[in-house]
Amino acid sequence: MFITVASYKGGVGKTTTAVHLAGYLQSLGPTLLIDGDPNRSASTWGARGSFPFQVVDETEGAYQARNFEHVVIDTQARPGVADFAALVKGCDLLIIPTVPASLDTDALILTLQAVPPEAANKYRVLLTKVPPPPEQDGPQLREALQRQGIPIFEAQIPRLKAFERAAAAGVLVQAVKNDDQAKRAWQGYENAGREIADGRK
Ligand code: ADP
Repeated sequence: MFITVASYKGGVGKTTTAVHLAGYLQSLGPTLLIDGDPNRSASTWGARGSFPFQVVDETEGAYQARNFEHVVIDTQARPGVADFAALVKGCDLLIIPTVPASLDTDALILTLQAVPPEAANKYRVLLTKVPPPPEQDGPQLREALQRQGIPIFEAQIPRLKAFERAAAAGVLVQAVKNDDQAKRAWQGYENAGREIADGRK
């Protein structure tokens, strides 16, 4: 399975998503993470510690991909309407991490509404950095996306410090020590991973 993670803006947890979904898929079969983002944050993160899967750049990734059951691509591409279809064509699933409460939610919805129907069943929005209740940003964005018929993961990723700690330590979030939220942080991605795996059955 080829999964591409792309976002419309920086800092939304794109790399965090690619890394953790690769971690989940690795538990199902050999998984390769292709770091296609020029800032190389996934590679830097992995170099700090150790990931349970291999991380390579795009050039090597093109060659290596055939040896793996699953490939996750952390791409820098910011899909506009035109290249959205192309991006979707090149993978089995395009994941778009999105942070609630950003002012440009309306722009996102407009862009996604314009996605051609043949591409619509190959992408899904993943809500990331979702603030805890009673903040309503997460549920509000979910509802807005659903109202527009935009595909969205049931799973969502809570806003937790454990993710920053994971990046600093060079590990996946479930391996962060002395953080009682680390498990909950991982569960978000685990649930998203299950939805992906279930969708293929
Ligand atoms: P992007 O690839 O979209 O630029 P990153 O994955 O690099 O985003 O994340 C940007 C910053 O936000 C990093 O410091 C990362 O540790 C942090 N982060 C990512 N996901 C979460 C989350 N769910 N909760 C809190 N912080 C997060």
